[in-house]
Amino acid sequence: MKKLIVNVGNVTIGQGGIVVVQTMCNTPTTDIEASFRQCVELSNAGAQIIRLTTQGLKEVSALKVIKEKLRAQGILTPLVADVHFSYEVAHEAAKIADKVRINPGNFAKEHDVAVREFARLTDICKEHSTAVRIGVNHGSLGNRIVEKYGNTPSGMKEAAMEWIKMAEDNNFDQIIISLKASNTIVMTEAYSLLYDEMLKNGVIYPLHLGVTEAGNGDEGRIKSAVGLSALLSKGIGDTIRVSLTESPLNEIPAADFIAKFFKKSDRYIAVSEKIKNGDLNFQYNTATWDDFILEATCEIGPHLLEKRLDDFSIDALVAGQAVSAKLVDNFKDNLMQAARRRFSKPEFIACPGCGRTLFNLESVFNEVKRRTAHLKGYNIAVMGCIVNGPGEMADADYGYVGEGRGKVSIYRGKTPVFRSVPESDAIDILLELIESDAHNRVSPPQNG
Ligand code: SF4
Repeated sequence: MKKLIVNVGNVTIGQGGIVVVQTMCNTPTTDIEASFRQCVELSNAGAQIIRLTTQGLKEVSALKVIKEKLRAQGILTPLVADVHFSYEVAHEAAKIADKVRINPGNFAKEHDVAVREFARLTDICKEHSTAVRIGVNHGSLGNRIVEKYGNTPSGMKEAAMEWIKMAEDNNFDQIIISLKASNTIVMTEAYSLLYDEMLKNGVIYPLHLGVTEAGNGDEGRIKSAVGLSALLSKGIGDTIRVSLTESPLNEIPAADFIAKFFKKSDRYIAVSEKIKNGDLNFQYNTATWDDFILEATCEIGPHLLEKRLDDFSIDALVAGQAVSAKLVDNFKDNLMQAARRRFSKPEFIACPGCGRTLFNLESVFNEVKRRTAHLKGYNIAVMGCIVNGPGEMADADYGYVGEGRGKVSIYRGKTPVFRSVPESDAIDILLELIESDAHNRVSPPQNG
């Protein structure tokens, strides 16, 4: 069995036991000063790789300047260009960035064009020592794959295998694969299927893990930690992003905690033994609340997700103080929902935002959460842009999608019901649509 390592600038990915932490800027890449400053902050906070949205050639030029400014300050953190819908942009970005992320679902419209232009991309990458992430997303699988395999974990695995084969046909092995989904079961199944297939084929490419559109706060951290820990506990995964609808700076400590947790796996093994022996009672003593929810999720989450455990009780001390039963219950509800074992509130799907986002995503998301908190059983999405948002909110019943400055589209499933709604009215209109559908017995299209 051959385990490949991939060099992304000065960072090596795929060395067993080392999990690289990465994040993404949420500044417009063309705002060079803001992006540069955020890269410096993220790098200082411990980000080992930083991605920037690169939607056009203007952004490629800006990326070049940002990289030069960082290098001039001695900051060597590798930069990744995030490219959708344009192989031409991917080709140019590959001459500048340390890695280019492409999405097989939107790299090119026709498959033969995708094959030809991906070969061209790998040639450019060979010449410039650039790596490629083949970034498959559950929400944006190409039509050809969906028609053949369905919008399923095996469809995601097949999409990745097709592009791995395309890279191999061009003698290019500097690839990293991701199969992200917002649903933790879909996400973990997809990665597990791909890992098994790579094992069967005898060549293991590094995997970039992430639960996409995980949201924010405790829910976002817990959902990410469930998906990541279920895979990292089996030794699957080489680099991670904890994707939060918050400042990207907040992603680093959470990702760092998870990456380090599985280095000292003794405790995970001890907890697994306890569960095998029927003990349900877990104790925690941590310095911070976030450490508590992340540690407990990394230990208990995989067992809930994989149904080796149905219920549990917790005693926790945080900063020396006993955690109240109410807070423990709230944590339990979040963990049960993240592991998709018991749903006690709406399921929220929210992208982290990036340079394409033209509104205050975090505050809008918090307001949507507050006003829809009673809608248990619904999947509600808040997405930062109209270009990728509708495609990425795969499981949403209803969606609030930023359209441009001050304008929003309101979706029922994949259908825009109201377009160009002023931002000030958008949450009211979203709620009115949900209520009138409930009144008229129009079922949410993908409820559950
Ligand atoms: S959906 Fe969100 S994260 Fe994705 S490109 Fe749009 S704004 Fe950026």
